Amino acid sequence: MDYPGNLFVVAAPSGAGKSSLVKALQELDSGVHPSVSHTTRAPRGQEKHGREYFFVSPQEFDQMIAHDAFVEWAHVHGQRYGTSKKAIEERIAGGNDVILEIDWQGALQIRRTFANAVLIFILPPSWEELRSRLQRRGEDSPEVIELRLQNAAEEMAQAKEFDFVIINELFERALFDLKAIVHAQRLKFSSQRRARASTFQALGL
Ligand code: 5GP
Repeated sequence: MDYPGNLFVVAAPSGAGKSSLVKALQELDSGVHPSVSHTTRAPRGQEKHGREYFFVSPQEFDQMIAHDAFVEWAHVHGQRYGTSKKAIEERIAGGNDVILEIDWQGALQIRRTFANAVLIFILPPSWEELRSRLQRRGEDSPEVIELRLQNAAEEMAQAKEFDFVIINELFERALFDLKAIVHAQRLKFSSQRRARASTFQALGL
């Protein structure tokens, strides 16, 4: 499927800093719209239905699958997560850019439907740093941290399937890299012709 808006898909193992980077990008660039996923997991802390996620029951999730409502969905850490068609199609069809923060399985499914999606993988600078970030976060028990590190090895093995890789060593540098990818995508001929239609027309292009 080809649409006028750009679709950016960001994946990373937990602790690599994906959410902070995507959040910082959105603060700088209001043209990048987040997609709100559906999940069967329960809300955490201050999370609100419709803001971080649409929190649904396993039955509701099953129904959405049966109605072919998802562009992609996957099992992640024992729960189900999915991107609804509604969350992205209208936006990109209207020429807006959308960013998805999802796991690698979902990212590869997205590419099958949207061949022009830009897949970005965020890597930590080292195993030591990933471990100490997970510990500093203070959200997980030592057992869960070990599990997350084991999962990270499998997840990171998928990075080679992605278009771009950002190594999140220094946050500001990684944010610069992410902005550069978004910017470069918008400079492609087809995007420029859409965004600057009158200039192209005046130039006879
Ligand atoms: P969390 O529960 O910590 O918010 O997210 C757990 C994992 O699920 C993260 O890796 C996150 O990127 C992923 N995830 C969130 N939404 C989706 C989605 O719609 N589809 C897929 N495939 N993964 C998702």
